[in-house]
Amino acid sequence: MKSFLTHLECSACGETYPADEIHTVCPACGKVLLARYDLDKARSALTRESLTGRIASLWRYAELLPVRTPANRVTLGEGWTPLLPAERLGARLGCERLLLKDEGLNPTGSFKARGMAVAVSRAKELGSPALATPSAGNAACAMSAYAARAGLEAFVFMPVDAPTMNQALCVAYGAQLFLVRGLISDCGTIVRREGPSRGWFDVSTLREPYRAEGKKTMGYELAEQLGWRLPDVIVYPTGGGTGIVGMWKAFDEMEQLGWIGSKRPRMISVQAAGCAPIVRAFQEGQRHATPWQGARTIAAGLRVPAAIGDYLMLDAIRQSGGTAVAVSDEDIRETMLEATRATGVFVSTEAAATVAGLRQLLASGQVDREEEIVLFLTGSGLLNADLVPVDRPVLDPADVEGCARLIG
Ligand SMILES: *Cc1c(COP(=O)(O)O)cnc(C)c1O
Ligand SMILES: [Zn+2]
Repeated sequence: MKSFLTHLECSACGETYPADEIHTVCPACGKVLLARYDLDKARSALTRESLTGRIASLWRYAELLPVRTPANRVTLGEGWTPLLPAERLGARLGCERLLLKDEGLNPTGSFKARGMAVAVSRAKELGSPALATPSAGNAACAMSAYAARAGLEAFVFMPVDAPTMNQALCVAYGAQLFLVRGLISDCGTIVRREGPSRGWFDVSTLREPYRAEGKKTMGYELAEQLGWRLPDVIVYPTGGGTGIVGMWKAFDEMEQLGWIGSKRPRMISVQAAGCAPIVRAFQEGQRHATPWQGARTIAAGLRVPAAIGDYLMLDAIRQSGGTAVAVSDEDIRETMLEATRATGVFVSTEAAATVAGLRQLLASGQVDREEEIVLFLTGSGLLNADLVPVDRPVLDPADVEGCARLIG
């Protein structure tokens, strides 16, 4: 199972770079670098059938991932998450073929595990002693977990007001956590200033080529789980964009491998109304988004005011015939419990946003009730359990009548 990785290529200027040296963004233009593979060779060596019976994790696609030596794989069992039919939720929303990709089952409770498994493996393979990230949320937790798995050092920079649970997770995994008086962008400045001389492998979103490779496996899995076809519509909660960018890349790769045809799902980006730079850029016909001022939302994974990969997200949304919609925090909060109760999957705020977004799209006729729709439930509700109101009566076991009355 040899990787068919050949080189890195700039998504903007097309410049190419050797894959086996450490790169962040394109040295020529500062944009996003993507990993490229010898897909002609892969096409003759690797068939869809050859995947049958392989390991139930994203490493079943090892030839199409950038890690060269199996011994360098850093894994906690990420990927190959279930694709679940959701008849009851579909009936509530008014659609007939609704499927859920339950990414909350990944290690550390979110699909960030996919990207970090691959990026940390590459850091190990390329000889980095340490990883670093500016992140206040799930990315930092996943990086810390995979660094612990690999036995590498982890440096995390979070704004002082980052959620205590995320701080605790990073510390639990043994990361060096630094709290920064400032915004996430200030954390990024520190990582880029201190990192190079210290040999840190910077895993900031889309500022290195490998997290997107881990995320692209969502696209491969979706096709394989549907018997090598794709749905009509994909609804995805969008922050930094590695998920949409990664899946869109996977579809192209699979077509070149002869695994799927040219049909693509409509890619629909959902953002929070309090931080919706991609929705605004989409509506205004821009290819680059203007940074969002005063970003505020309970969906922490969507609180990304400016994304370096904005043009890649917007290209994918437009080329697919998709769209971008914003949902309010109030809607997210209500939908979180409604969706959890109608599916048995405890959904995070970001995942709930896809459900709220779909409701809007069905109402406006942008999605039809008979279409096959896949919602990406990117995180587990366990990460947001503090948002669930628990206001219950207390029973006195000696008060028999009182108990009966309260139980109803
Ligand atoms: C990071 C995150 C997102 C946003 O994902 P991108 O692929 O970076 O756009 C969505 N949901 C959850 C739970 C996240 O942690
Ligand atoms: Zn470039």
